[in-house]
Amino acid sequence: MATRQSGDPSHAVEDYLKAIRHLQRESSPVSTTALAQLLDRSPASVTNMIKSLAERGLVDYEPYHGVRLSEAGELEALRIIRRHRVIEAYLIEKLGYSWDRVHAEAERLEHSASDELVERMAEVLGHPELDPHGSPIPTAKGEVTELRHPALSEVSAGASVIVQEVSDADEGRLRYLAELGLYPGTLVEVMEHEPFEGPIRVRVGGRERSLGRGLAEIVRVELQDEANDGGASDDAANN
Ligand SMILES: [Zn+2]
Repeated sequence: MATRQSGDPSHAVEDYLKAIRHLQRESSPVSTTALAQLLDRSPASVTNMIKSLAERGLVDYEPYHGVRLSEAGELEALRIIRRHRVIEAYLIEKLGYSWDRVHAEAERLEHSASDELVERMAEVLGHPELDPHGSPIPTAKGEVTELRHPALSEVSAGASVIVQEVSDADEGRLRYLAELGLYPGTLVEVMEHEPFEGPIRVRVGGRERSLGRGLAEIVRVELQDEANDGGASDDAANN
């Protein structure tokens, strides 16, 4: 079978909604330029697609200003994100995939798996709240709690942190993070920031490691205070 790119219009819609939601977390409304960059499409084709999404009531679009998801668009985006994250969790927990390989697989299956299959996967997994990269899985009703954890790169030397979430998009980086043992739930001591935007030295599992800034930016962490038991339930202050 030929490789599928943007051939299927419903896949493209779903990818756009996810991308808009992703960018909205940084700033809203989202510019068509930012969207074109993220999706690797021409600005003209992005504008066309946005107009069609607006006609379907999935986004609000103001030319020269930007685009944001409507309530219906937000729900649809959360539905796809749920599918993606349940599939990732299933592939790792039940099929033994390594965590760097599940994202690409989930990018394909999120569009094509039936609702029944995804819900059965969720059930077999015991309805997990987080995916293997530490990202929250929206409920079937489209509810999700997203906490904005600081990046490891922002944490001062001397602090101890627990890894909460890791960006799942780059396989190479995920493989390297796995080598370092930087999974969600791992305790990390930040030892030193090398000067002039240099790497960050950390201690993980008793071993000293050096992390480039770009890598430290995709690792989201929660600060540990001395008395903390490592529970992830008390980070409301951060949001
Ligand atoms: Zn993913």
